[in-house]
Amino acid sequence: MIESILPTYNRLPLSFVRGEGSWLVDAAGERYIDLGSGIAVNSLGHANPELVEVLIEQAKTLWHTSNLFEIPLQTALADKLVEATFADTVFFTNSGTEACELAVKMARKHFFEAGQPERNQIITFSGAFHGRSAAAMAAAGSEKMIRGFGPILDGFRQVPWGDHEALNGEINDQSAAIMIEPIQGEAGIFQLPDQCLRGLRDICDTHGLLLILDEVQCGMGRTGRLFAHEWAGIVPDIMMVAKGIGGGFPLGAVLATELAASGMTAGTHGSTYGGNPLACAVGNKVMDLILAPDFLPEVRRRAGFLRQRLEGLVAGYPSIFESVRGAGLMLGLKCRAENKEIMKAGYERRVITVPGSDNVLRIVPPLTISENEIEEAVTRLGDAASKIASR
Ligand SMILES: *Cc1c(COP(=O)(O)O)cnc(C)c1O
Repeated sequence: MIESILPTYNRLPLSFVRGEGSWLVDAAGERYIDLGSGIAVNSLGHANPELVEVLIEQAKTLWHTSNLFEIPLQTALADKLVEATFADTVFFTNSGTEACELAVKMARKHFFEAGQPERNQIITFSGAFHGRSAAAMAAAGSEKMIRGFGPILDGFRQVPWGDHEALNGEINDQSAAIMIEPIQGEAGIFQLPDQCLRGLRDICDTHGLLLILDEVQCGMGRTGRLFAHEWAGIVPDIMMVAKGIGGGFPLGAVLATELAASGMTAGTHGSTYGGNPLACAVGNKVMDLILAPDFLPEVRRRAGFLRQRLEGLVAGYPSIFESVRGAGLMLGLKCRAENKEIMKAGYERRVITVPGSDNVLRIVPPLTISENEIEEAVTRLGDAASKIASR
């Protein structure tokens, strides 16, 4: 008999009743150190007191009005994002998937309004993950994700990650945009080198394409800059954001230049919940905390410390781990033993990691994790590795 919850998830037999900073607590009171943050979401830690306070205050005041009306908290958050980034304008969603939907619509509409409706193809990359909707699925194009769900939305061309020739071969007079994650997350933490991101910007400029960056997982401070593309010194035309921007409250956004967004006039897109007062109260506080002068330098320092400790772990257990990759606090432990075995052994030692493809364990802790907590977490991962190594 089917369960009351549609059985689409491979859930672990673990459940938590409370979170505090970098820690999750189960019903028996066992404390787990969290290197997953709900898949790079709780970036300011669990039950962050400042986020709790703004959410409670907002809950007592006003929950929802719909986008029929002005929402001053939404405007304030959009202003902050515009001020801090390449963007001229922002649309708020509830998730990364919805941000992908709008990014695709926006790119197509841009060329339609420019009198080039035939330019509606978006080039994406193998291993990509942009969400689970019809457009996001088609954008990723992986057999695993789309099998059985055809007909698949037309207008996407996948090229192998890192294959310059294939990419150039796909560009023609129907191309509208290139869509890419600066660091692929689900695929197992593959970072696009800065010079490749600059190369993509050049290609887009040469051929008049829009560059769409999916920073749903790698954005909002995770790499030690507000957005990952800042390291390469380039800007996109359209960017998808979600996960960390709500710190655990469902919130996403599409950021765009005025030119890229020029087709999105009144009535062309909408969302009932998108950017509602509860979400934006939290989003504003998240932005304020991440943009505080000491915050990102501190993320970079701790990221260096974590990386060094993880390199030590790999050196200490060469039969279990192969290497560390990624950037900032978005790291991947490439495993030799099966990643899920190590993850489970980690749970027994009360440390949480997130599996990714390519036999990787994703290490995406809250950006607020302390050095002591990093030390403790890596010690526990070492215990888990040593248990597997001794089998
Ligand atoms: C998680 C993720 C998405 C989808 O976001 P949802 O909020 O799950 O819809 C899209 N792109 C990337 C890179 C992601 O990591």
